Amino acid sequence: MIRIAVAGAPLSTPSPGGSLAGVKHCAKLGIPAMEVEFVQGVRMKDELAKEVGAEAKRLDISLSVHGPYFINLCGDDELKMKNTHRHILSSAQAAHYLHASPVVFHPGFYQGREKKECERRAKKELEAILERMASAGFDDVVLGAELTGKKSAYGDVDEIIELARHFGLGKLQPVIDFGHYHARVGRIRTKEDYEKILDKFEGALGPDFKKSFHCHYSEIQYTEAGEGKHMPIGSLEEAKKSGADLNAPKGAGGPPHLPLLQVLHERKYQGTVVCESPAMEKDVLTMWKALQKTDKN
Ligand SMILES: [Zn+2]
Repeated sequence: MIRIAVAGAPLSTPSPGGSLAGVKHCAKLGIPAMEVEFVQGVRMKDELAKEVGAEAKRLDISLSVHGPYFINLCGDDELKMKNTHRHILSSAQAAHYLHASPVVFHPGFYQGREKKECERRAKKELEAILERMASAGFDDVVLGAELTGKKSAYGDVDEIIELARHFGLGKLQPVIDFGHYHARVGRIRTKEDYEKILDKFEGALGPDFKKSFHCHYSEIQYTEAGEGKHMPIGSLEEAKKSGADLNAPKGAGGPPHLPLLQVLHERKYQGTVVCESPAMEKDVLTMWKALQKTDKN
């Protein structure tokens, strides 16, 4: 079974908000999962993480974590690398107490380096980070290397598959971001387009890939360089209505959410789709209701 997650506390969470109130509000809204957003840095104390984790368990809300944006596993600046380690480790520590998994992160930037060189560096750093997680007792948490949305960012389809193959899905899983795919790799239009993408991951990583699936989804804006901002569900329909050229290199809208849900249902995927729409709970519930309807048929 797939759950649909909201990316952060829902917009309608009573003030002052925060993750604890967010989890409670998810339960009220009927949202079954939440990605805890540490994108600007991890500032959650262990005590609070334990409290949020216990509440999520009680209310049956699945949790995952999104690590800080300031991560780059491919660079050679010593201080920045130290910070990269710290960002991933502190995310893993919070995730451990939250009972959350995976910790999603954007792997890095090429900055003019060869793809192979970036891969070598990322593997070396992740090796060290995973060792430190294990010795701290946080190895119940899986790292999630996200498919990045800009062509300048390390973390394309082959690169995140290779990281998962190298470390094993129990330690590091690939996190497909279908919005990023749509913007960076090629436009997703149909169920067959989704099937082809998933075939590639299943073929490379085996049946376990379907058992602990974690992905990001939203409609998106795109240019030749890749992703722009995330868009609410319905943007593709609007673009069609306004007569926009859907094959232009620059535009907004799509990929469609219904064929994704259909394929995941048909192939019996287990895990979470994080809906990263700016409309937050509105679009999360649209997807969650659509998925439940698919399940009944
Ligand atoms: Zn992300």
